[in-house]
Amino acid sequence: MTDRRGRPLRDLRISITDRCNLRCRYCMPREHFGAAHSYIDRADLLTFEEITRLATQFVSLGVRKIRLTGGEPLLRRGVEDLVRMLARLPGVDLAMTTNGVLLPSMAERLAAAGLRRVTVSLDSLDDAVFRALADTAVPVRRVLDGIDAAARAGLTPVKVNMVVKRGVNDDSVLGMVERFRGTGHIVRFIEFMDVGATNEWRLGEVLPAGEIVRVIDDRYPLEPLGATHPGEVATRYRFRDGSGEIGVIGSVTRPFCGTCTRARLSAEGKVHTCLFSSGGTDLRALLRSGASDVDLRSAVAGLWRARDDRYSDLRGTLPRSEPVEMSYIGG
Ligand code: SAM
Ligand code: SF4
Ligand code: SF4
Repeated sequence: MTDRRGRPLRDLRISITDRCNLRCRYCMPREHFGAAHSYIDRADLLTFEEITRLATQFVSLGVRKIRLTGGEPLLRRGVEDLVRMLARLPGVDLAMTTNGVLLPSMAERLAAAGLRRVTVSLDSLDDAVFRALADTAVPVRRVLDGIDAAARAGLTPVKVNMVVKRGVNDDSVLGMVERFRGTGHIVRFIEFMDVGATNEWRLGEVLPAGEIVRVIDDRYPLEPLGATHPGEVATRYRFRDGSGEIGVIGSVTRPFCGTCTRARLSAEGKVHTCLFSSGGTDLRALLRSGASDVDLRSAVAGLWRARDDRYSDLRGTLPRSEPVEMSYIGG
């Protein structure tokens, strides 16, 4: 099954909460996500049974990789039970993206429940830079402990996501390279993206992927690596001295819509076929009105076949109405 641009459905990102214990400036700026912000009501969240039932339909339509995200997925109570349920789906690679704050105490349980890998977000090793960007009192050490706990639990290779903002944390790029080369962990440098309507995105704050690679290559020579699988978003490079690899995700300057195979399910059950879409299609209503698996499957198939999204290819040329926030859709 392919969409109107010939792209198959291979990946499903499931957001399981829109809440978070950090307030990253590029994602949930506190002035918009303060005490007055209204989050999805508990009763409106998909239950674990509902998530699993929907995920089963996606898998039957070709999904091979499922990633739990949020908000902060580790805030969802009982998340390891959901992991256990999803881990039973045949032929699926199950991963999670987390800010790592709660990983030190949870990594072992998640691995035991069947999680295969984690990606941990960390934007600097410098406490002052990290705390300002994540608007938190949590120290970097805590996230590093989370990464260590994940590695010990076998959730490997651990990927480390760093969003790079020019003039904010670009000085931290080489430090991240130095800390993680030779460890087996893979740092992925991500261009600051214009998701949502609250993060005051400006093109001038994007450090282009090409520049990031140049800065690293000047100090630690790199050579390009091929994609590990079709639809991979990161452009991969390895250190010429054999000390590992990095990736860059250039959604702004190197769009990859042509190979985008990802669907997204929000915590309240809306399917989005693009990170930059607005409304989403409500599958919860269908689920709760007694739809059969066949009905659910054909709703998803219909959505995918009609899909024509390529926001990043067309960036700046399309009108945007009420874009959803990153903390809602999950990245
Ligand atoms: N809370 C978890 C975390 O931070 O890893 C999972 C959800 S978060 C929305 C998923 C990923 O999106 C993180 O790696 C985060 O750094 C990234 N992200 C959030 N806002 C972004 C933006 N404006 N541009 C680029 N990446 C962003
Ligand atoms: Fe929370 Fe992740 Fe967004 Fe940061 S990027 S505010 S950790 S959801
Ligand atoms: Fe996929 Fe939309 Fe991102 Fe393009 S902009 S790569 S279609 S999610």
